[in-house]
Amino acid sequence: MPKRPELLERLESQHYDMIVVGGGITGCGVARDATRRGLKVALIEARDVAYGTSSRSSKLIHGGLRYLEQLEFGLVWEAVNERRNLERLAPHLVSAQSFFFPIYSHSPVKLFTLKLGLWVYEALVLFRVPHLHRSFGVKKAALEEPTLKSEELRGATLYWDCTTNDARLTLETAIDAQQQGADLATYCKVSEFLRDESGQITGVGLTDELTGKTLKVTGSCVVNATGPWSDRTRALMGHQGHLLRPTKGIHLVVDSARLPIQHAIVLHHPEDGRILFCVPWGDRTYIGTTDTDYKGLASEVAASAEDVDYLLRSCLFFFPEAHLTREDVVSTWAGLRPLISEGEGDASSVSREHQVVVEPEGLITIAGGKLTTYRRMSAEVVDHCVTFLQQHGFERDLRRSGTDKASFPGAVDWPKGTSVEDMESRVIEASGGHLDKESSSLLVSEYGSSALEIARLIPETPKLGERLVPERAEILAMVDWAVLKEFAMKLSDIMIRRTQLFFKDRDQGLGAVDLIAQRMAQLLGWSPAVLEAEIAAYRAEVMQSRQWQSE
Ligand code: FAD
Repeated sequence: MPKRPELLERLESQHYDMIVVGGGITGCGVARDATRRGLKVALIEARDVAYGTSSRSSKLIHGGLRYLEQLEFGLVWEAVNERRNLERLAPHLVSAQSFFFPIYSHSPVKLFTLKLGLWVYEALVLFRVPHLHRSFGVKKAALEEPTLKSEELRGATLYWDCTTNDARLTLETAIDAQQQGADLATYCKVSEFLRDESGQITGVGLTDELTGKTLKVTGSCVVNATGPWSDRTRALMGHQGHLLRPTKGIHLVVDSARLPIQHAIVLHHPEDGRILFCVPWGDRTYIGTTDTDYKGLASEVAASAEDVDYLLRSCLFFFPEAHLTREDVVSTWAGLRPLISEGEGDASSVSREHQVVVEPEGLITIAGGKLTTYRRMSAEVVDHCVTFLQQHGFERDLRRSGTDKASFPGAVDWPKGTSVEDMESRVIEASGGHLDKESSSLLVSEYGSSALEIARLIPETPKLGERLVPERAEILAMVDWAVLKEFAMKLSDIMIRRTQLFFKDRDQGLGAVDLIAQRMAQLLGWSPAVLEAEIAAYRAEVMQSRQWQSE
């Protein structure tokens, strides 16, 4: 990765075909697609890659079974096929997961309808699924998921979708964009649009959030991929209307021993019939999500006691023996869905899921969408940009982006025919025997073939093989890798989005912050004051996420 001063200097001295604002899955997807086509791209992110909704989703790569009820076959077709693509291109990050869908006498959906829907769901991807769905009668259903309430159970189905690590999927998209030639700057906030006398956009003004320095970056068009911040970003151009109607969704995390489920479970909330998921997550289980209108600041979104209690009530109803209470909640996360506000905006292309708005001045806004379909959506945005550029004198020949064929960085060097188990053994070997099976397995599942490179750091500096938290598999080398290769600049980048200790560790990683911060200080040259400030900022973030406990 280029050093920050060099990167900022380059941003100021080059002229880009496209400046992408926002480093969530959408912005990174656009930057990756555009760079692979041969455009010169800068991506500017106000905080960390995947800081926004893209690290706060339900982490499902799925077709959206429920859209079948609304007969949205096109949407589901697109999503199930993208699921298949992502499974193929990022197998270390997108894995098949079984979903158990129990039907009770009070369920809004009948078993027959569900089974019919699942045939369609599988047919849309020509039955190329890990396993075809199965159905269970009452007795077998109760045996399959013994912790689930069995009264009034009418049967169940088991079908397959995928889960992912949303933050890492975004990160690897960003890394690929960078490897293809995009300049990617985090902690740089776009604060103005630069315009010429005719009002045409010529670039953006931004603030380096680490130093407060301002700089100008010039480009021929600008993509607004700021998710829930899209309206704020458009307001910088003087647009007062609302494209979005953001809604908040929260998840809560409990110890898997407190909610031991065999499969991900799909439930209808007993009070309002909304779909909820309980998803196995290693030694944890997460439960989500809510869906409530949100009017506050996007950067302050957090779970409220009301949100947490709403999810706990459904657990009490469906898992009565588990007796889950507030004390069981290890952590929570909250995100904003950048949903389209119906009927507004001068759209040039509208769909139920996302909207691309092309302003004649050269701002292309992409709003809405899903993690699952980000690749196709990004390609559509780049198509609009290319049309815009060509209308304004751009003449270079461009290639196909090939993102439907290009593997993600962690899958590129995976030796052909090597099983996951073989790769884990190679990682242990590469670490000089310093790593145990649990840590090597974590590295392979999170980093794919890059796990080998991380392990190779260890023989020279054995302390990098040490665990961050004694009872967990994460190791110090992940900190080095995050700083050297994955744009991490702040303690919370590592705690929340690179290691997920914030969500998974019993004390949200507070026991490991000194060790991690000190290593970051060595790598990034932090002064003692910066080190202290980083630790304090992370503690404050943990406290904010726990604020619901005192409501
Ligand atoms: P974001 O990820 O929010 O990225 C926007 C970025 O813009 C942020 O990083 C922000 O810091 C940056 N930014 C803002 N202002 C500026 C500025 N001025 N300058 C520079 N940068 C700026 N989809 C699925 O497919 N599967 C799911 O299971 C799923 N579950 C979901 C559950 C919930 C609760 C929610 C809320 C969404 C879920 N989604 C899911 C949808 C999916 O997560 C989002 O559609 C997607 O992550 C949006 O990504 P984005 O890049 O558009 O926005």
